[in-house]
Amino acid sequence: MKITDVLKSDKLTLSFEVFPPKTESSFESVRLAVEEIAKLRPSFMSVTYGAGGGTSKYTLEISKNIKALHGVPTLAHLTCVSSTRATVKEKILEIRKAGIENIMALRGDIPANLLNADRSGWDYKHATDLIFELKSENPDFCIGGACYPEIHPESQNQKEDIKYLKEKVDAGCEFLTTQMFFDNNLLYNFLYKIREAGVTVPIIPGIMPITNANQVSRAIQLSGSFMPQRFKSLVDKFGSDPDAMKQAGIAYATDQIIDLYANGINGVHVYSMNKPDVAAKIQANLSDILGK
Ligand code: FAD
Repeated sequence: MKITDVLKSDKLTLSFEVFPPKTESSFESVRLAVEEIAKLRPSFMSVTYGAGGGTSKYTLEISKNIKALHGVPTLAHLTCVSSTRATVKEKILEIRKAGIENIMALRGDIPANLLNADRSGWDYKHATDLIFELKSENPDFCIGGACYPEIHPESQNQKEDIKYLKEKVDAGCEFLTTQMFFDNNLLYNFLYKIREAGVTVPIIPGIMPITNANQVSRAIQLSGSFMPQRFKSLVDKFGSDPDAMKQAGIAYATDQIIDLYANGINGVHVYSMNKPDVAAKIQANLSDILGK
């Protein structure tokens, strides 16, 4: 099933994200965690792509399992970084063979050792280049991309970021999943601005349940997200008690999802980070709303 069809539901739909193992030896534990999440029957599951190359080969393997063994619609990520036209063609053949219809096309984070490298020879410089090629050559695939309510860290300003976002959509991107955010008002402001700029595709907010205090600094470092005072107080109060912090973080994420749905956003993506217990708890918290 295509993500654009999933998003036509007038009910709340929850999707969960998983990431592939970094090494062969951790494959089995990741496979089991992914299986537990798939058993929750989310509206779809997305599988990230290790742009550095190390984990990229497992993205397809995990994606195939989700689709074949559990029948859950699957969104396989693919990045420009570490890809060439030839490797993308190979990947697409495999994705097609596995019956997966959805691809999340990203630029990927530039590895530290390549930050100052000459990238003029790269086949794809921006996600838009990859999206344009994927959609032109595979019009039957459903292609998604990323967007940033708090601006991509490399952008000069939001106007510029939204200008490139519009180009991404014009290139064939059919839905956008957001970077994590902890204040829904940032998302509502962003939606207003992108709709005004003519970006009309569905936006799937990405919600990250913070379940331990260490995750907070890592999340901010990765995403540059603003931490509202309400969230900071919660970390101050519960950060040193792992069980309480987990419960409070899941409650905060649940609250964000309820507010999004109450404000007309039906499709929400949860950065469940290979944690079946967190995914299950969020789903249980929303059981009546989801009708599950
Ligand atoms: P782009 O859309 O290419 O944008 C990157 C920057 O370039 C932005 O500042 C943009 O404004 C600017 N830009 C765009 N087009 C142009 C242009 N034509 N000229 C000049 N500037 C331009 N990373 C992974 O490695 N693997 C994953 O699986 C993964 N999944 C993700 C899922 C989501 C939902 C999100 C939000 C992020 C994900 N990331 C992943 C991280 C992502 O790869 C990074 O945030 C990366 O830095 C940007 O990727 P992008 O696709 O948004 O890039």
